[in-house]
Amino acid sequence: MRRLDRRKQFDRTGANAGRERSLKHQMSSNFDVIVVGLGAMGSAASYHLAKSGKQVLGLDRFTSPHAFGSSHGQTRIIREAYFEHPLYVPMVQRAYELWADLERQADRRLFQQTGGLMIGRPDGVLVSGAKRSAEEHGLSYEVLGAVAVRRRFPALNPTHDIIAVWEPRAGILFPESCVEAHLALARQQGASLRFEEPVLRWEPNSKGARVITGQGEYQAERLILTAGSWINSLLPDLKLPFTVERQVQFWFEPKSNPAQFHPNRCPIHIWEHEPTKFFYGFPDLGNGVKVARHHEGDTTNPDSINREVTAQEIEAMRRLVRKFLPDADGPLRSSTVCMYTNTPDEHFFFDAHPNFPQVLIASPCSGHGFKFSSVIGEILAELLTEGKSRFDLSLFRRRDLSGDA
Ligand SMILES: Cc1cc2nc3c(=O)[nH]c(=O)nc-3n(C[C@H](O)[C@H](O)[C@H](O)COP(=O)(O)OP(=O)(O)OC[C@H]3O[C@@H](n4cnc5c(N)ncnc54)[C@H](O)[C@@H]3O)c2cc1C
Repeated sequence: MRRLDRRKQFDRTGANAGRERSLKHQMSSNFDVIVVGLGAMGSAASYHLAKSGKQVLGLDRFTSPHAFGSSHGQTRIIREAYFEHPLYVPMVQRAYELWADLERQADRRLFQQTGGLMIGRPDGVLVSGAKRSAEEHGLSYEVLGAVAVRRRFPALNPTHDIIAVWEPRAGILFPESCVEAHLALARQQGASLRFEEPVLRWEPNSKGARVITGQGEYQAERLILTAGSWINSLLPDLKLPFTVERQVQFWFEPKSNPAQFHPNRCPIHIWEHEPTKFFYGFPDLGNGVKVARHHEGDTTNPDSINREVTAQEIEAMRRLVRKFLPDADGPLRSSTVCMYTNTPDEHFFFDAHPNFPQVLIASPCSGHGFKFSSVIGEILAELLTEGKSRFDLSLFRRRDLSGDA
């Protein structure tokens, strides 16, 4: 039964067309690039590489998009006044352009603009970081006091000591559709995409790298590892300090005033509710009000992660909802477990393998990478084809990852 279901999913992506025939062909072929992991980053990289004329093979252990990694749960926030560091701003601006382009090419909705509120104490990292990025890059923004937030966005209930940075361009990406769109267009550009085929290991050689799966061996000049939370298993010798963190996404039904959660009246919102403790939420898109904490999850392993959500976890989330979004305190509609792949300093990591320059590592994005996946795909393609990127990648390269910086 399970096999049949998977097969059905496979048909949906069209990935099994001529599967056995193409397996034989591919096994005897050399690719320019093999992309391992076809989630957010790998689907985008496959598309940009195929578009630039490269012969691409993409491999995934499941059938993307799926709900076992880091890119599921219907919505992801995109925002411009980037509190984490101003250096992300030019990249996210390019990401916006690429999402719009992808929407046009794929002819489907991938983004919904709602505006965004970064809510917290004036001296907190969220508010001060968002202001710093907005100032440095001349972005339009407004600072609102708690009373103004409640008046303009009655679903939100900030305490009196809290202010908010309003940024108009923030909004929502639909992650499963984004991954599907990148994959469909990658295939249209000639990429070979193979699902339900985990990569067991890879080996460098004089012609690039050989990739070994349960079904075959493939050779390419270059290799991109975008395996998300499984990245460590493909780099066993490097002992990189990437950790996997369990995160739960919750959907609550509004208890009262449901119209206040309509996307026309409720923006995406991120709260620093205690110093360096965050949660975030979305308007109700028809499935309830989605909320989640940012970090504070258990360290886990992608193969043994507990996907059950406990009553204590629901109650802990509900306490925040009751205080800051009181009208959303209705029955829990659903919840799902997801994974962050963290670096110690919570900035992204993408760079060449330290010993094998033909191998690029990308994925650890510390729970804030989805919005960038379009531009990260383009950057990976540029790094491979031109050897450089137009962006300042200094934050994301190999660095002292001890977390002391
Ligand atoms: C709950 C949650 C909320 C988030 N919210 C936001 C947000 O609002 N905004 C934002 O910008 N970011 C957000 N993020 C972060 C963002 O979603 C991730 O950074 C991004 O999705 C990671 O993409 P990825 O390609 O690295 O991983 P994935 O999309 O998980 O892809 C990795 C792929 O590799 C495959 N794979 C693994 N091992 C192998 C192997 N050996 N062989 C073949 N294939 C393999 C997997 O099957 C998977 O498909 C959130 C993350 C979570 C978990």
